[in-house]
Amino acid sequence: MDRLIIIHFGEIWLKGKNRKRFVDRLERNIKTALSGESYERVANERDRFVLHLRADSDMGRISGRLGKVFGISWFGSGVVVDTEPKAIIGAAKALVGKSEVRVEAHRADKGISFTSRELVGMFLDEARSGRMRLDRDSEKVLKVSMKGERTFMTFGREEGPNGLPVGSSGRAVVLLSGGIDSPVASYYAMKRGLEPVYLHVHGFESGDAPELEKIRETVAHLCAHSGRARMYVVPYHVFQGRALGVPKSYELVLFKRFLYRLAERVAKREGADCIVTGESLGQVASQTVQNLDATAHGIGAFIMRPLVGMDKQEIVDKAKEIGTFKLSIRKYRDVCSIGSHEAETRAKRERLKGFYNKSGMTKALSETMKRAKVIEIAAMGHQSESVK
Ligand code: ATP
Ligand code: MG
Repeated sequence: MDRLIIIHFGEIWLKGKNRKRFVDRLERNIKTALSGESYERVANERDRFVLHLRADSDMGRISGRLGKVFGISWFGSGVVVDTEPKAIIGAAKALVGKSEVRVEAHRADKGISFTSRELVGMFLDEARSGRMRLDRDSEKVLKVSMKGERTFMTFGREEGPNGLPVGSSGRAVVLLSGGIDSPVASYYAMKRGLEPVYLHVHGFESGDAPELEKIRETVAHLCAHSGRARMYVVPYHVFQGRALGVPKSYELVLFKRFLYRLAERVAKREGADCIVTGESLGQVASQTVQNLDATAHGIGAFIMRPLVGMDKQEIVDKAKEIGTFKLSIRKYRDVCSIGSHEAETRAKRERLKGFYNKSGMTKALSETMKRAKVIEIAAMGHQSESVK
């Protein structure tokens, strides 16, 4: 009798030519999520994966990790036995213990010598003689799925995060600040299949500053969904030096434009298809329609803002749910807090472009990129990060 976990995936995206690509990607992501865990193998069986466990497999940890893999709709632990009544009933009793359960049996193969109804009858016999507890209204479901010589049984159900497998929609440069919003934006981008490459602009002497640990930890936390990720850490001071002559009211929007340009460069280098930010609409001075338009005008990469229609409270709730909130509220000197009280709320495309060119931001861009520190970060509990 093999102990196993049956993993189900959503079906909406399974139609058509992309099916194999999605399924292969999901399989790869499951294996990455389980790296370092003890298990026998993962096998794709039509519309599900079967994860075969070992005696020393850690169910709690494995469930925790599977629960973060996008593309999984639900999973349940179970066993696989020979399609033979005695074996099925014996294994079922071991699986459910003293719980009161509802049995759902299904025979996929008419070549099997007994019907699912007959099997349920046998279960009822067990219940009548007190060896099992059955209740047709129970929410605890024992699923028995007979397929040829093998029968899969699952008991219980854990929800997956749904969505699409990370990487199936391509790659995105995620602009990550020390705030609450951008980690949530990254979560939603990953949920729709984007693989993140992070870019963070810091206000410290070097990319080795101990304060940056907060950002690394945030990425490591988000990596529970993507396995691992690359992060570009670049300094703010080159921009700051060049922005000195620009009116204070334009400094923030100028920085935003500079950020997008940096992201564009990283996107090119990393083969990413788009940029993701944690901007919402009207949340702060820099996030008016006019400012978003002026800052993004002419940027050669598609910019996505998954939080655009969300209220701050909704974002905070989500941040708490996905576990980034406690990291985001740790004290941190974010470069974006500069001068926002007098910021322009209706920046003009041409004016902004003029300031950008006059202050020599293209040069600042190259200088900043030269100082980029590239870090590979693994999910918490996986092998530690390496610095390139
Ligand atoms: P957040 O909570 O994500 O910091 P915010 O509400 O503070 O967002 P802004 O400061 O306007 O809003 O930042 C908007 C977005 O710009 C952020 O969500 C992030 O995507 C990007 N961003 C801001 N600061 C940085 C930074 N230092 N490095 C990289 N990206 C940044
Ligand atoms: Mg911020």
